Amino acid sequence: MIRYFFKGTIQFLTAFHIGAPGSIKERVDNPVLTDVYDNPVIPGSSLKGLIRSCAERSAKTLGLKACGIFYKAEDSRLENGKHCATTFTSEEKAQLNKRLQDIEAGRATDEDEKGQDTLTCLKKSLCHACRLFGSPYHASRIKFPDPALIIESWVNRLERRDGVGIDRDSGLAVDGVKYDFQIVPAGVQYTFEADGEDLDKNDLALLGSALLEMANGSLSLGGKKSRGLGRFRLENPEVASIDLNNDQDFWLFLSGEREKFQWVQARDFFEPYIMGKLADLSKG
Ligand SMILES: [Zn+2]
Repeated sequence: MIRYFFKGTIQFLTAFHIGAPGSIKERVDNPVLTDVYDNPVIPGSSLKGLIRSCAERSAKTLGLKACGIFYKAEDSRLENGKHCATTFTSEEKAQLNKRLQDIEAGRATDEDEKGQDTLTCLKKSLCHACRLFGSPYHASRIKFPDPALIIESWVNRLERRDGVGIDRDSGLAVDGVKYDFQIVPAGVQYTFEADGEDLDKNDLALLGSALLEMANGSLSLGGKKSRGLGRFRLENPEVASIDLNNDQDFWLFLSGEREKFQWVQARDFFEPYIMGKLADLSKG
């Protein structure tokens, strides 16, 4: 089995705000999320959310399916003509569970599903985004740990900005509604890491389109994006693939010596997967 490792540096081009839920520690209305040392934190889940929505947006261009908010129900039909199981009604979910139980017990009635394993059959009921990033039916095949703050880039000072309440309907400022929020100043850097297993060419095309979009600096992380906050660039993104059936690779993996992996520039690594999907599409 091949394990894939991804790394790079997240370089913030503007200040950012990832809010702390319900904190009363700071004398500010909207504090940023910090760790016990008061260093600003980016949860891996925030990053995963951004990467997933970015991949969902690119799915159609790549000829792949996603059930996310960017797609109308009609556009997200799978190869079998059905919708992704994540969007099923409770009745449809019950039917799918029954079918999966039958497959598990060797009582499959569908010719295509006889003798197949449950996971293979389940995959056919999920869109490409759910197969890669996870769904209520199975875990994600790619993990994003919390990015680590590069301490030399951190000025050890959070800043504060004022905001005014905006009426959602008129878009105008509401008199007397003022609040302040904390920001992490521009220039701070984090190390980016991710690892995935059992990724096929569709997974790599989806993931590649998201990581390359991060690398070109057009994405933002965190809140208050409309105020220009959270712009970042993924610098020097690289990919390594490790064959766990190869003794030497397996030993490198176990010893955790990631710097000894064969790292390849993300652009070069992902190009054949992304261009391959586009070529498949133009062939019809
Ligand atoms: Zn889905």
